[in-house]
Amino acid sequence: MKALVTGASRGIGRAIAVGLAEDGAEVVGIHYAANREAASATAALVAAAGAKPVLIEAPLDVDGVAGARRVAAAWEGDLDVLVNNAGINGQQAFGEVDEDTYRRVVEINLTAPLFLIQELAPRLNDGGRIVNITTGYTRVAAPTHPAYAAAKAGLNNLGLALAPVFGPRGITVNAVMPGIIDTDMNADWLPEGRAQAAAISVFDRVGTAEDVALVVRYLASDAGRWVTGQVIDATGGSAL
Ligand code: NAP
Repeated sequence: MKALVTGASRGIGRAIAVGLAEDGAEVVGIHYAANREAASATAALVAAAGAKPVLIEAPLDVDGVAGARRVAAAWEGDLDVLVNNAGINGQQAFGEVDEDTYRRVVEINLTAPLFLIQELAPRLNDGGRIVNITTGYTRVAAPTHPAYAAAKAGLNNLGLALAPVFGPRGITVNAVMPGIIDTDMNADWLPEGRAQAAAISVFDRVGTAEDVALVVRYLASDAGRWVTGQVIDATGGSAL
């Protein structure tokens, strides 16, 4: 299996990259924006798990189309699993949404995944997998993140739209929506807000990157072959 994970230098993407290596991937592409040190740390973990790491640097927020094309151009040969995980949440209440942040949020969370799928589609092997990482904010109201919630909802629906396109080739297309996960994305508030965040889940804890990666690993495995066009809730039963 050859897998490419965007935003794999840290957080959920790193856990997915390492998890796919543990599941037997021969090659794992580790895309990142600029943090080479973190990407190299992921590469070491991927190598320790038995896969060949391939580092790809490309920002996706300024121009998602150009960024996606840069990632695709850097990828050599065929591919079995594509995980669109890179994202920023651009937290801004509705009245504060500014054009620059809005565009960056949409570029990375929606435009780049669409064009990365389009670019790599001819090299995606039959029986392959496309997984898009979205957010639980597409299921509950997210007045603190309207642009993010809208972009990720678009990404959820992109998977539904593309499932029939890739179905004839045995390729599944799904979204996985995490709840609150303990990553750098929440580092500015989770230390103080942990108990409150935990209480949102029926399991009364904050999710880990591995919790989400396990769902992606299932979809990427043979066990996930009959699941497509779906949005898989990986929020630990948040806000049920
Ligand atoms: P994270 O820890 O902040 O890591 C973000 C990853 O995306 C890094 O690899 C980073 O690369 C890359 N990235 C950031 N800005 C980028 C840009 N402009 N262009 C290209 N790549 C960029 O994030 P995370 O919490 O693991 O989140 C991963 C995904 O899960 C995102 O799509 C996020 O929206 C979604 N999600 C997260 C949570 C949560 O609570 N954490 C909840 C729901 C959904 P560098 O290291 O080079 O910066």
